[in-house]
Amino acid sequence: MSGREPFEIAGMTVPAGRRKDIHLKITELCTATPVFIPVTVVHGAEPGPAMFLTAAIHGDEINGMEVVRRIRGDVDPKRLRGTLLLVSVANPISFIAQTRELPDGRDLNRVFPGRREGSMASHIASHIFTKVVKRADWGIDLHTAARGRVNLPHVRADMRVPGVRRLAHAFGAEIILDLEGDRGTLRAAATRAGIPSVVFEAGEPLKFQPALVEKGVEGVRNAIAELGMYPFERVSPLFQIVVDDHRWIRAERGGIMVLNVRPGDIIEKGEEIGLNTKPFGTEVNRLKAPYTGLVVGCMTLPMVLPGSAVCHLVKLDRRAAALRKLLRRRRPAFE
Ligand SMILES: [Zn+2]
Repeated sequence: MSGREPFEIAGMTVPAGRRKDIHLKITELCTATPVFIPVTVVHGAEPGPAMFLTAAIHGDEINGMEVVRRIRGDVDPKRLRGTLLLVSVANPISFIAQTRELPDGRDLNRVFPGRREGSMASHIASHIFTKVVKRADWGIDLHTAARGRVNLPHVRADMRVPGVRRLAHAFGAEIILDLEGDRGTLRAAATRAGIPSVVFEAGEPLKFQPALVEKGVEGVRNAIAELGMYPFERVSPLFQIVVDDHRWIRAERGGIMVLNVRPGDIIEKGEEIGLNTKPFGTEVNRLKAPYTGLVVGCMTLPMVLPGSAVCHLVKLDRRAAALRKLLRRRRPAFE
């Protein structure tokens, strides 16, 4: 044994080389019932960095929960260097309600680092940030698309920050979206506080999608191995591209959109993304790709209004032909 100091959290002590499941109080209901988040502390036998892993900050995005559960079972604390802080449900109030937002309509992932004297969301964020996030040196936050959408597995990272760049590459997703991150996201707030953090996005809300969970587990294991915390065998992606030119292609008219693309497709400039129809089935208009790109997200609900987000398209330019060949060689993300 290393004689390493125990990890203290919420008045509890986790000795080196041990794992402990803790209920951490973050707020109270109007019945005065306390609300806890489940935190598993895996305190390695040997010193090393600390990493947080959070899921279901948006309460209906649950693929990440299963990633956290799998990682919890994969790591033997006696062989771990450093400490893992695993939060499978970071927003239990929205999780119970199966919604993205809190009951007051606020998005918890827009108020980090939060304030104790702020709104309910801000208050909760502050507890999570001070009690979990700030105890770590690195972080990964797990998400899916919002309701009515689906995302190709990808990492979101502010690639200007060296630590974030290292973590994003190591995670090993094929696509990295270089994004600073909206103000108030856990990822942006943690990175600003000196804790390099990335988001992994995969799939749809309110589902366990086994192939995408697997991708998440693989990525987290890759990141843990990169930081020298655990001897996981790393899995390399077939390719990896970093993109910063991307946007949602939006419906021009109201109607029922019959989509011709799905996540992982490459679409040429001018090709049809979808056919917009009236309820009688007659055509309203055809939505065309404004540039050649890779589809990283799509709507799943066909009803559209002018401006509805239909297809999240990453601009590919010269890389399109090479990528098309590579994509043909690997199993599609969605089968
Ligand atoms: Zn989310």
